[in-house]
Amino acid sequence: MTMPALFVSHGAPTIVIDPSPARDFLLALAETLPRPRAILVASAHFERPTPTLTGALRPPTIHDFGGFPRALYEMRYPAAGDPALAARAAALIADAGLPVSIDPAYGFDHGVWTPLKLIYPDADIPTVALSVAPQASPAAHVALGAALAPLRDEGVLIIGSGAATHDLSAVFRPGVGPDDPMPDWVSRFSEWLAAAIEAGHVDDLVAYRERAPEGRRNHPTPEHLLPLFVALGAGGGGPGRRVHTSAAFGALAMDAYVF
Ligand code: ZN
Repeated sequence: MTMPALFVSHGAPTIVIDPSPARDFLLALAETLPRPRAILVASAHFERPTPTLTGALRPPTIHDFGGFPRALYEMRYPAAGDPALAARAAALIADAGLPVSIDPAYGFDHGVWTPLKLIYPDADIPTVALSVAPQASPAAHVALGAALAPLRDEGVLIIGSGAATHDLSAVFRPGVGPDDPMPDWVSRFSEWLAAAIEAGHVDDLVAYRERAPEGRRNHPTPEHLLPLFVALGAGGGGPGRRVHTSAAFGALAMDAYVF
């Protein structure tokens, strides 16, 4: 069976503990998927100049955030690593003519573990993390995902974990609350994104900074959208299906896609 490729918006780390529509969606997501043998997650918070995979057998849980409730810092996501999968993925990336490396020490940052804590709370599926490169183009990330597509026939669930929209300057503002509705300049971008993904318009998607309404405003830096391009590439360029939409703190579209 061919596994799907997914993109999820992970929001704030508090998604793990605070009720929200996106949390409910992630809690129910596994029931809609075939059970994977292993998981490969491209994380917006794992930034490296060249594609890098975690090679540790026991990857540490990384609490790469500040100022959140203590309960979050006490959480662990003890899934095993999968050094053989990391090596297999690295070989596929190299075969595609792309540079690649394996980091034996890095673990699961919150782009990896906060959504997985909700999707697979038992942490019983071996997991490998993949970096993104903000210096590289969206098209380069589509190529990276395409290189990994054969893993979908090997029982590997490929997940891009980022944010459909991510202007944090609009989030960390006095008076903003977690249940605020999506402002118009956010929904215009997220609806454009959904339409382009559901039509399989890869050329438009990789040019989102020029072609999407409010593209630069919703992604002042690209790292939270880059995991979407990995999932898009792994999913054969789409078309994909939006399986969740909601807002967190107004400006964060929590949309998710299945390819
Ligand atoms: Zn994030």
